[in-house]
Amino acid sequence: MKKLVFLSFLVLLVLLIWQLGWLDALTFENLKRQQAELLAWRDAQPLLVSGFYLLVYVGITALSLPGAALMTLAGGAIFGLGWGLLLVSFASTLGATLAMLVSRFLLRDWVKTRFSKTMQKLDAGIEREGAFYLFALRLVPAFPFFVINLVMGLTRMKVWTFWWVSQLGMLLGTAVYVNAGTQLAQLQSPADILSIQLLGAFALLGVFPLLARKGLSVFKSRQALGRWKKPQHFDANLLVIGAGSGGLVSAYIAAAVKARVILVEKHQMGGDCLNTGCVPSKALIRSARLAHEMRHADHFGLEKQPPEVDFAAVMDRIHSVIKAIEPHDSVERFTGLGVDVRQGTARLLSPWEVEITLNTGEIQRVTARSIVLATGAEPLVPDLPGLEQVDYLTSDNLWQLRERPERLLVLGGGPIGCELAQAFQRLGSQVTQVERGARILPREDQDASQLVMQYFRDEGVDLRLEHQALRIEVDGKQRWLVASDKAGEEVQLPFDRLLVAVGRKPRLTGYGLEELGLLPDSGKTLDTNTYLQTLYPNIYACGDLVGPYQFTHAASHQAWHASVNALFGQFKRFAVDYSFLPWATFTDPEVARVGLNEQDAREQGIQYEATTYGIDDLDRALADGQAYGFVKVLTVPGKDKILGVTLVGPHAGDLIAEFVLAMKHGLGMNQLLGTIHIYPTMTEANKFAAGHWKKAHAPEGVLRWLKKYHQWRL
Ligand SMILES: Cc1cc2nc3c(=O)[nH]c(=O)nc-3n(C[C@H](O)[C@H](O)[C@H](O)COP(=O)(O)OP(=O)(O)OC[C@H]3O[C@@H](n4cnc5c(N)ncnc54)[C@H](O)[C@@H]3O)c2cc1C
Repeated sequence: MKKLVFLSFLVLLVLLIWQLGWLDALTFENLKRQQAELLAWRDAQPLLVSGFYLLVYVGITALSLPGAALMTLAGGAIFGLGWGLLLVSFASTLGATLAMLVSRFLLRDWVKTRFSKTMQKLDAGIEREGAFYLFALRLVPAFPFFVINLVMGLTRMKVWTFWWVSQLGMLLGTAVYVNAGTQLAQLQSPADILSIQLLGAFALLGVFPLLARKGLSVFKSRQALGRWKKPQHFDANLLVIGAGSGGLVSAYIAAAVKARVILVEKHQMGGDCLNTGCVPSKALIRSARLAHEMRHADHFGLEKQPPEVDFAAVMDRIHSVIKAIEPHDSVERFTGLGVDVRQGTARLLSPWEVEITLNTGEIQRVTARSIVLATGAEPLVPDLPGLEQVDYLTSDNLWQLRERPERLLVLGGGPIGCELAQAFQRLGSQVTQVERGARILPREDQDASQLVMQYFRDEGVDLRLEHQALRIEVDGKQRWLVASDKAGEEVQLPFDRLLVAVGRKPRLTGYGLEELGLLPDSGKTLDTNTYLQTLYPNIYACGDLVGPYQFTHAASHQAWHASVNALFGQFKRFAVDYSFLPWATFTDPEVARVGLNEQDAREQGIQYEATTYGIDDLDRALADGQAYGFVKVLTVPGKDKILGVTLVGPHAGDLIAEFVLAMKHGLGMNQLLGTIHIYPTMTEANKFAAGHWKKAHAPEGVLRWLKKYHQWRL
């Protein structure tokens, strides 16, 4: 409404100016004719004339009306070069900034909602190189300034950046015009001001910073490479360091396209996902779910059985699951695929040379045209006083546990902490989970977190939110975490074992990144461009080492890009795109997501409509005794285009796949609704969400007529 009022006001203002014929008076001939009068007026009231001139100039540019060039000439003609340049420079910048803000206020939300993907890319580009592009656009007179103002308003460029880059970029052109204005008498027409040579010089000046920036990055890469001697021949087309999710896929792709590929793994094939991450955690969750179901067997008409948990047997099962999956990632399988697997520790000696200390002790040196770093991440251990006194657990060593902790304290409310906290509680530990934020799973929407928290509390997890861990204290066999609660009071939280799950940090040290100058600032992941190239154009990286999403499928997605770019980048390179990357947290209820959720949409100022379908109403969920959770779909207002989905409930990680496919291939709610889903399945929840959306968008007018038609037919 505010926007409509403002737009109407602007339109009326422009119409009024038009009607009064003010713009018609702004001609080169009029300016020449009235120069003497204007000069006399300026001499009589210099400040008033300057102020009036400034106001008119700002008005013209802010409203994107034609006449700014002539006003600039007038500036020189009336005020001379010095004062004229100063006035015009500030007036034009202020006017341009206002025009940019008008466009932002009126159009940005609308454009962002309709073209969210394009706008995300544009904003990312503006964040990286916006100042350079704006500067080039300001200097190259081929682009009308009012268009630049309007387009920049659609982006997320900071107002201050827009201001200073515009003022600097327009200064030269402004000076030329103001100077020409001082020579008004000699000019026959405005066309005399800009010669082809001058335009060419401006264009060159405009693209110079961009070229300089591109050149600088090429220079930096060349300089980085130049320090090293490039081998004449290579032992491999591609060398991959790390055989986790990222490394295995990189090596697989290289072998599939018949490249010679060496894969080095120092520890266990399969990396974190197989050995300490996804696989063991999901196997643990399965046992925990069964224990939970046994406890509640009476809900299904069976005698309820408090489970006798043989924790060592649970752990044995986990290791047998790992064993069952191991062949998929094994040395034998990859050797069979044509990958040269070497078990040992790799260390970069140069951008092309790697030293491998084999597990047998033998040291080898190999060269490769390109390298993919897929060395993963490890648990982040906070600098918590007293932590060293307790034999704390992380996701790395948890799987060696043979005895169930009676009291387990889980530090951290992220996905890993939550999955493990619930699993241990279900297996009979008394779990206390400490989170410094106001809720667990903070990346998800409030309603998703709330539902998970409700289940945690119902199952007996002692959730301590807004608790900041301060120190660990030990007294004989007693140990506790001291934390400060919401009120700032210190509380003691006793435990038998402590599980640290406060995040994961990339593995960056000990394999040559320091020597090659590749170490990022502390706390950051390894720097790459969108093609996943590091500072050295032939060294690529993927997976948890680079982030931003630390998931197995994200690592695989990146690995495809890294290896294809490494092997075929001289022909075509592929930029990695995370637009439709889904993820799930395997708590009960599961929480799965793709695209935007409400909190992200609000943060990014994207308008949306939310349609929620409650799974508590779904036939199959009721039959299964799992009637809880919801499907929440965000769509473009008034359209069926899907912006994002949050799914909470049983099998959410599986159900989300339909939405991922729909979003990836541009299918909307109408198509989902028109797709046959098997009855009775959980996937019907997706269709019913689409049905809810359709109902909310039913054409009421048509339905009223239809009702009349049917009544008439009775
Ligand atoms: C408890 C837990 C549960 C998880 N659950 C899920 C889940 O359900 N779904 C999901 O998608 N993701 C999950 N993840 C995340 C997932 O495990 C990671 O995102 C994934 O393993 C990252 O793969 P990567 O290839 O980047 O690294 P990694 O799997 O860590 O592999 C890196 C490998 O590099 C090797 N290496 C390092 N340095 C060298 C060197 N110098 N020389 C030779 N080898 C080296 C390491 O030994 C390691 O094997 C979970 C993680 C944890 C911890």
